[in-house]
Amino acid sequence: MRAILPSGHSMTFLSLISNKKLLKAVADSGYHNPTPIQQQAIPAILAGSDVMAGAQTGTGKTAAFALPLLSKLDDNNYQIKKIRVLVLTPTRELALQVYKSFEDYGNYTHIKMAIAYGGVSIKPQVKQINSGAEVLIATPGRLLDHIENGSVSLQDLQCLVFDEADRMLDMGFQAEINNILKHAPKKRQTLLFSATFDDAIV
Ligand code: AMP
Repeated sequence: MRAILPSGHSMTFLSLISNKKLLKAVADSGYHNPTPIQQQAIPAILAGSDVMAGAQTGTGKTAAFALPLLSKLDDNNYQIKKIRVLVLTPTRELALQVYKSFEDYGNYTHIKMAIAYGGVSIKPQVKQINSGAEVLIATPGRLLDHIENGSVSLQDLQCLVFDEADRMLDMGFQAEINNILKHAPKKRQTLLFSATFDDAIV
């Protein structure tokens, strides 16, 4: 049952997340209360549901998916490190922001993140991915380069996140995304964040 709080009472992160390492990182970030999207998305993501959320930048959407996904990875503590979470972003700037957020929230865990975007040498990215990354934040084109090279396998992927999905389509990444989906397991969790929802996104 979901508790409905009387107005004036604010929810805390403690009621959403039990992982102490993540709660400590949230406190370090200076967050006191979860934002509305965090209150709604965190329990759903922890429960394994697919989520489509209308969320603009500034709503706290990154923590809304990063915290529950890191919580699951930390609880599982997989001995064999594979890419289990993939976040697709339309731009390198957003990829860097999301990567920084995962690094901050995962600060007290041993989970490793990797980032991949185009316009720079691919080699350091391959090295970072191969050093035990479980979370990959990537732009679509460069991710496909990695898949074609064999430097990324999505075989063990558990969760695929589309961040700013509407911008990804606006920027013409439809074909790349379809191609990436062919390499991802059918049985997985999918999360989609978008400022707008039209037929193409759905
Ligand atoms: P985002 O929508 O993910 O781009 O986040 C927008 C900004 O809100 C970022 O600077 C976050 O650090 C911040 N933020 C995220 N969650 C919270 C929260 N619960 N309380 C205060 N600030 C937050």
